[in-house]
Formats: sequence, C-alpha cells, structure tokens
Amino acid sequence: MKINQKSYAQALAGMLLLIGTAFTSAAIAQLKTDDPLMKINRETPVRINDLIHTRLDVRFDYKKRYLYGKEWVTIKPHFYPTDTLRLDAKGMDIQTVALVKNGKNIPLKYTYDQLSLAINLDKEYQHTENYTVFIAYTAKPDEPKHGKYNPAPDAKGLYFINQDSTVKDKPVQIWTDGEPENSSAWFPTIDKPGQKTTDEISMTVPAKYVTLSNGRLASQKNNTDGTRTDTWKMELPHSPYLFMMAVGDFKIYHDKWRDKEVNYYLEPLYAPYAREIFGDTPQMMDFFSKTLGIDYPWNKYSQIVVRDYISGAMENTTATLHGTYIQGTSRELADRYYDAGRSTIAHELFHQWFGDYVTAKNWGNITVGESFANFGEVLWAEHKYGQDVADDHNNADLELYLENTEYADKDLVRFHYRKTEDVFDPVSYQKGGRIVNMLRHYLGGPAFYKGLNIYLKTNAFKTAEAQQLRLAMEEASGKDLNWFFDQWYYGAGHPLLDISYKWEEKTHTQTIYLKQTQPGKAFILPMFVDIYAGGKKERHKIRMNNQSDTLSYQLAEKPQLVNVDAEKSILSQKTDHKSIAEFLFQYQNAPLYMDRYEAINAALALQKDATAQKTLILALQDKYYGLRLKALKSIDPANSNLNEQALPIILKLAKSDENNLVKAAAIQVIGASKIAPQQSELFKAELKNQSYAIMGASLSALADIDHAEGVKMAKTYEKGSTDRLVSAIIGVYGKYGQDTEWPYVYKNFLEANSRSKILVMKDFTGMLERLKNPEYTQQGVTVIKDFGIRLKEYGFGAKAIEDLNRIKEARKQMGDDASVQFINRAIEEINTAK
Ligand SMILES: [Zn+2]
Repeated sequence: MKINQKSYAQALAGMLLLIGTAFTSAAIAQLKTDDPLMKINRETPVRINDLIHTRLDVRFDYKKRYLYGKEWVTIKPHFYPTDTLRLDAKGMDIQTVALVKNGKNIPLKYTYDQLSLAINLDKEYQHTENYTVFIAYTAKPDEPKHGKYNPAPDAKGLYFINQDSTVKDKPVQIWTDGEPENSSAWFPTIDKPGQKTTDEISMTVPAKYVTLSNGRLASQKNNTDGTRTDTWKMELPHSPYLFMMAVGDFKIYHDKWRDKEVNYYLEPLYAPYAREIFGDTPQMMDFFSKTLGIDYPWNKYSQIVVRDYISGAMENTTATLHGTYIQGTSRELADRYYDAGRSTIAHELFHQWFGDYVTAKNWGNITVGESFANFGEVLWAEHKYGQDVADDHNNADLELYLENTEYADKDLVRFHYRKTEDVFDPVSYQKGGRIVNMLRHYLGGPAFYKGLNIYLKTNAFKTAEAQQLRLAMEEASGKDLNWFFDQWYYGAGHPLLDISYKWEEKTHTQTIYLKQTQPGKAFILPMFVDIYAGGKKERHKIRMNNQSDTLSYQLAEKPQLVNVDAEKSILSQKTDHKSIAEFLFQYQNAPLYMDRYEAINAALALQKDATAQKTLILALQDKYYGLRLKALKSIDPANSNLNEQALPIILKLAKSDENNLVKAAAIQVIGASKIAPQQSELFKAELKNQSYAIMGASLSALADIDHAEGVKMAKTYEKGSTDRLVSAIIGVYGKYGQDTEWPYVYKNFLEANSRSKILVMKDFTGMLERLKNPEYTQQGVTVIKDFGIRLKEYGFGAKAIEDLNRIKEARKQMGDDASVQFINRAIEEINTAK
C-alpha cells in the first residue's frame, strides 16, 4: 500500500506551514503510554493450520451489494495434529460448511460470531494429510453492523462503486482491498500475512464488463442469462491480503516484458493515455529484475485504476490497483514529474518482490515490505531520471519523517501498536526507506544487492522478518550487522547531529567537533568527511561512536570546505555551523543535490547577506529543476536588493525554462513583481501554452494587471479545464469575481482534492467576504466548516475558524446578520467536533 490516510493528512498539514499558518505537531494526538492496547504483545499468530489452495466461485448482487460465494479451501495442520479449523470470516451469512470427501459434501459442525468460523473436523488430521472444506456464504460489505463486526469505511474488503448508477457519468465498478486483514470480508480464510496459498477465482459478472484478478485468465464462458464467468488461476502461492478482484468497464492496453503479459486497465476516457501513464513498466521490470538478480517472479503484471480507492495504491500479486490520482491526459501528465504517480508505479512493482514474493511474517515486520517499496522509488529515480531526482525524492521523504516528533518514539520493527493500520506510518515507509538506503551506502552497492539476492532466494514464496535480511546482508558482506539492526530496526529515533569547526593557523590544524544532542544513547555513524583544500578534495572514512567526537587533520593550508557526511546518507537532523562563504563553496564544488540543497537553505535564512544572495542567484540557475523551483518559491519578494539581481534571471526562466513547473512558478513571481505590467505580452503568449500550469500562472498574472479583463478571460477557459487551470480560474474569481462567478467557484471547489483546496483557500475565503448574496456566502461557509472538521486533528480546524472569523467581520460591516449568525454556528460546530 502506498499512502495511509494518516501520512497523507500529515503531508497536507505540512502545507499549512507553506501557506504561513502556525501549526505544531502537538496538534497530532500523542499516544498515551498507559494505553492498554499498547500493552498487547502482537507476536506472530500461532500457525495451527496452513492454507494450501483456495478455490472461489463468486457472483454479485449489485442492488443489495452482496457477494454470493462458494469456496473450496484445501488445508493441512501446520505441525501438531488437530481436529478443528478456525477461519476468519467477517460479517457474512454462512449457509453451508462441509467436508469434501470422495466428491461428497459431509456437513460439519461449526459456530460463527461474525468474525470467525470455528469448525469441528470429522477427525484428527496429521500434518501429512490435506483436507478440503466447502463453504457457501454471502458477503455483505455494506451491512457491517452485525455482531462483533463493525469495520471502518476503509476496511470493508469489497467495494461496490455507483452500483445503481445514481451518479451520472460515474462508472459502475466493483473492486477489493485486502490489506491488512480485510480479504476475510469477502471469503473465509486464515487472514494472516504468514499464510500462503495458490488460488482459483471464478467470477460471474454482467457480460458487458471486464474482470481482473491474480494470475492468468484461464477461461471465459458466456452464460445464457447475459452474464459471463471468468476464471482466474494463481498457480504460485501468495498471502490472502494480496488477493484481488475488479469488475467494470475498463479498456485494456496490452504491453509486454520479455514473454510476459503486461497490461493496463483504464476507464475508456483515459485509455488513449495508457502508454504515457504506465508505459515505463516493462523497462522498470527489466531494471528491477537485473538489479535484484531475480527475474520478475510472476506470470503477468497488470495495473488497474479504480474510482474512490481508499488509499494510494495496492500491490496485489500480479494485479496492482491504483487510485485515480495516477491517470491523466497528455497535457496533464506533462505537468507532472517524478513525485506525482510515477514513483508509485515503481513502489508497487518493487512490492512484487518485497511483500508478495517474500512477505512480512507479521505486521510488526512490515518494514520488509514497505521500507523496500519506498526505497524502490529512489532506485528507479536514479536509473531513469538521474541522481538529483533520486536525492530530492529521498530527502523529501526524510523531511516528512522528521517533521513530526511523534515518530521518533517508534521502533521500525515493533510488536506494540494500537491497531494493525498503525504500522503503515512514516516510520515503516519514509524512515525505513532511508535506513535501507543507508545500509546500501554502508555496505556499498554490490554487497548490498548481493545481500538482497540472497534474501529473496532464501525466502522465496515464504515469509521473513528483519532478521532474515540481516543474515542475508551478513552473508553477502562478511560483516556483523547486529549493531546496525539493533540501532535502526529494533530501536527508535535518530541522531541530532551538531557539527562545528575550528582552524588553528599556528599549527595548521583543522578540528571538527561532532556532537549528538539527542537524549539517550549515541548512534554509531560510519560516514565520510571530504576536505577541500588547495584545489583538491581528500576523502576520510570515519566512524562516530560517541555522544561527542573530535577529529583533527593537519593540513598545508586552511580548507575552503569541510564536508561531513559527504555522501549525505546519514539519517539525522543536522545543525551545521558552516559560514555562508563555505556554503557557497559547497554549492559550487560539492557534487550532490544535498550539498546544493543545504547551501540554498543556509542562504535563504540570510537573504540580506551578499554571499547568500550570490548563492540564491546561482540556485535560480541550478541544473536541476527542483532546486530552481525551490529558489523561486522562497526568495523574499520584499528584499529589493536581491530582487534587483534576481528578476532578470527569473524573467528568463519565465520565457524559456524547459520545465513546465519552473516556467509557471517564474511567471507567478514575475506576475507579483513590479515589472508585471510590462510583461502582459509574455503572459498573453503563455496563455496559449499546452501546459495547464503555465496557462494558469499566466491567467492569474494577467488578472492581477487588469481585473475585469482577467475575469472575462477566465470565462473562456471554464469548459474542459482540469486541475491546475481550474485552480487558477478559482483564484481569479476568488480575487476579482462577483456573484455571477460564484456557481463555478462553488462547484469546482467542492470537487477539488484537498491539496488543491488548500492552495486556493485564500482566494476562496476572500470571495466569501465580498459576495452580495448571503446565501452564496453561507454555501461557502459550510464547505470551509466541513473541511475544517474533516481534517481537524491536523490543524485545519483552527485554520478554518481563523478564516471564518475574518469573513464574519466583513459580513458584519455589510450588515449581513444572517451570515454572521450562520458563521457563529459553524465555528461552534468545528469547536465541538471530535
Ligand atoms: Zn507499499
């Protein structure tokens, strides 16, 4: 799985910082240490019986949102003889439970409590004996509140989308989502990651739809009642949470890797862009196969995009399922770079090895899946887009982990958590991915990949814990890695690294003071120190073992730069006491993205200083677009001296940068600058650009010069616009529009995703202060209130109240008492919401 709801909301909360609202991580509920749920030791569940084969025959009742299932599940005792079988089966009606013997069903006694089915077998079975149980059942995912079973909306297992076609233009779909233990809401099974089974699923569906499941499509049979039965066979064992089904009107694009089928299932509207969206997949399969020394282990690879998916994406074996965020038209895709969707394709594909081929033995060890899938994103970026893109991606994830202090308390491998979903957090993903990357730097690429190869070969079609990874890495490298795993896998937190320097002219001695200021034990940190002096760079290998270490080097002359952690791979929060001149030297001479990134950050904190300004001017022309963007977005527009130097360069970016996002951001900066009125021809010309981002920025800039003309122009783009351009239109109307523009703003703001909402919130709330019709204002207030309540725990409640109070003042001035009362009630509702 890619993004859990929590880290997505936290990423959004990070945006509050971007838009200048005070936000502290204290707003995130802290776990209480005396919580009884935290006292439970969530060890690997005992294996009494093992799944061997699962055969399902399912039909759907769209009206009732039911699945009618027949199951033949073949099982054997794991080791000790047993005469009972317990299967997870959530919220079902159970019609029959029988033993299949000599082609006959012999009824078995069972009890069922809406969570699990306890079956008495006909005799005691030995671990050398298989037996098959037949179960007839009805799964009712939308009637959850019976007995002990009452799942959250994102834990239903089986989802009917627009099943009665009530929403116009929305497709009718069925899809499933099994992680962590939700497959047992659509078929009885032992719903644990430690189980592995082959399977065969026959799905009877309306003949107009296509189906997708794990493995190969073994047969299709047309029935006389307008339905068709598709049978999918998965001939290699995998875990129940990786089972999947999807049914709907999808167009299939057929691709290939070596002799294996690769295909992409999309809604007809996006089918023409299938290759642009997913076309790198075969190349990725090739790269990962070669890097790991193990060919893609399954017989096919499909990817499907479904509506209303509850998370980012899911790595079902051979059949990854994505949310709609990944699809787009050519023009939309041209505004996206590595972080939007493409990295998820790499993430889910890497899971086919790390997660599906070798599976976490228990959820506490989910790092052997998620940390690797996260690392796979960086690996693909390096190969396809270069080191800068990979390092940028790596650093963004590190910052996401560091931003919230609550994560510093959690071990990567853990057996104490409140509920299973909690392990799908930035520690398992973002921090874990950085730890894997650190291990690669420590061992060196060849030893590390050899270790991965040993790990995958040793544990193929089985399960593993982090210990298996340690043993494989030790076997490959010959090094004892207990210290690394104790520190990073079975320990929490990270070093707060303070680095300072002293040059002694008399003795020509360079001293480096390294301190770890975090409470508790010191981390062992092997790293490199690069010393730049006399036009040369010398690399020193060091190992920091203590809370504070002092390094001394005799040098011929004072160095221009001492670069600690020269590979920038150490997972830490750094405070580096370099001078701005040293940072400028680092920007110009050190090789990595992070060298430049650190220098730009240091310069941004000192924007009045001439050396810092020189650094920022260089950053505007950085070879990597991400750093040009960073500089563009952070230069203080009130700093006239800096802007004097920067504006001609930014204008050049606005005119001719090859990257759409840089060009758009440059147009935005020029549009807000004093030279904007002279650039209206540029804005008009760029309004014809194919890039929606560039069009949007140009439209906003033009509207800022001539408000009425801007509104008029925005109207001509209302039809057929998507994402970024819609945001720009909302922005223009928000700033300069009147009541006539409100219906457009209201409709499109409601439909926008949370991220877009946040970006245009200021203009949206500004419009509510100005509208003549109180009813319109109140419509808008309701939207803000709902948004504030939905994301209250991440700081958006307070932000909504702040906005509402400002709107209230404006309505008061206008004598609109009805809206004032309405806003008071909305604020009250936010305050009392849980
Ligand atoms: Zn994942």
